Amino acid sequence: MLTNIFSENPTKVVSDIEALGIPKYKAKQLLKWLYIHFESNPDAMTDLSKKMRDELVQLYSFSLPEIAETRTSVDRSSKYKLKLADGNFVEMVIIPAAKKNTLCISSQVGCARNCSFCATAQMGLIRNLEISEIVGQVVLAGKLVKPNRITNIVFMGMGEPLDNIDNVLSALEILQAEDGISFSPRRTTISTCGIVPAIIKLANSGIRTKLAVSLNSAIETKRTELMPINETYPLEELKKALIYFRKKTSFKVTFEYIMIPEVNMAWEDINALKKYVSDLSCKINLIPWNPVSGIAWTAPRNSHIDMFLTNSQVINQTITLRKSRGSDILGACGQLAATQSQKESL
Ligand code: SF4
Repeated sequence: MLTNIFSENPTKVVSDIEALGIPKYKAKQLLKWLYIHFESNPDAMTDLSKKMRDELVQLYSFSLPEIAETRTSVDRSSKYKLKLADGNFVEMVIIPAAKKNTLCISSQVGCARNCSFCATAQMGLIRNLEISEIVGQVVLAGKLVKPNRITNIVFMGMGEPLDNIDNVLSALEILQAEDGISFSPRRTTISTCGIVPAIIKLANSGIRTKLAVSLNSAIETKRTELMPINETYPLEELKKALIYFRKKTSFKVTFEYIMIPEVNMAWEDINALKKYVSDLSCKINLIPWNPVSGIAWTAPRNSHIDMFLTNSQVINQTITLRKSRGSDILGACGQLAATQSQKESL
């Protein structure tokens, strides 16, 4: 089977092509087609000779996930259902703002972590995404937003990125490479439910990225109910790993806190959060819960959100409210799930 070119580090692509007797500058032209023009069809790479293009298709596959369905929200966010080579589906979302285009990508088909507020959890884990399927989402999105550019990448789509850490790190290496997209680590965020050994591995990897932790409660029993991972890696153990991550990378960790009425929006929740973050330098991102079919909670009303935001000012950290984007197309936080029935219906 041919190697997918989007799974290969640009340095390796250059050396593979030089080994064919093709000069280095020609290999760099190819990389420009892939990562500057986001072109995956060798026939469209007009400044490469026919002979070189023929040799390339003998060496590599250039296939990308296929866009099977697009839904655009009234707020201009677009959700793309992507068909993978084996017939599975994942979703990615592009969220445009004034001068930004944030791309939310998936790292797994489904997820094993079973968080109680999340649509992806209902699928269970089907498989990890390959490196080329992760990089491929960025290439597809780069082409879709042309002549603008993707300015931020967040691993907040389907799956737990740190459960697929080796492929996620290799994908980041390609995206950040000078001959790749040269994407800034400051504009990349991995979101995790809190897998402690993988946070340490990420901190030690030398590959830089920001980290967001889905916290949702700083009360041990409540967090375990919302996020079963908390049983394996409880709050204090998680905190130690985050302090280590901060020391190694200098990036402040962001805590995501999904606000769920009658679950985690009382004063006891604010006081526990205040205590938990008191010895950290972090940011807190409050996110209104978005309805997910099969989960009986209700979304918070605006008055409820305002009150929680006001009350949380007792916490001495930067607190922001994330506007929910794309909820009408089920593209908002916690709503992504390309189910098997969707797989069959296409
Ligand atoms: S919130 Fe993230 S880690 Fe938890 S089940 Fe959903 S995708 Fe998995």
